[in-house]
Amino acid sequence: MGLTRRPVLVLNASYEPINICAVRRALVLLIKGIATLEEADEIMIYPDMQLPLVIRLIAYRRVPKHQQTLSRKNILIRDNHTCQYCGEKDSAGNLTLDHVQPRSRDGIDSWENLVTACKPCNHLKANKTPEEAKMPLLRKPRAATFYTHRNARCAGGAQKRWDKYLFN
Ligand SMILES: [Zn+2]
Repeated sequence: MGLTRRPVLVLNASYEPINICAVRRALVLLIKGIATLEEADEIMIYPDMQLPLVIRLIAYRRVPKHQQTLSRKNILIRDNHTCQYCGEKDSAGNLTLDHVQPRSRDGIDSWENLVTACKPCNHLKANKTPEEAKMPLLRKPRAATFYTHRNARCAGGAQKRWDKYLFN
């Protein structure tokens, strides 16, 4: 993939992630003074410009909150196909959805109560809470807003540097 087509995370002035764009577009925003550079790679894209990874808009932009559909697919995408208990990344076929607060104990289907779990972890946790099972969650599940965006899946290695903005 050409450098200028790499994905760049776009933050609002408030540091809230709002979009993903290509490096090419990010450079335009930076050069025009619409955005400022927050995270960059060591690679120089121009003699005086590092490859942007995360940029932030200087002026706050109103973004409509679009509700993402709660689905198995979207939970897996949000959790990056990674078991939220052991950190194992797997194919969708080997992953299950776990109710953090068990369904048998009034746990509901919600973004905050559903996480990706591998079969062994789901089996081990059974009808317990993470505290009871002594299986702490890797991170607190949140409603998917921006990061279930289809492009988030293509982000690849850049994502690590995005994490602190996406999951804080
Ligand atoms: Zn697991």
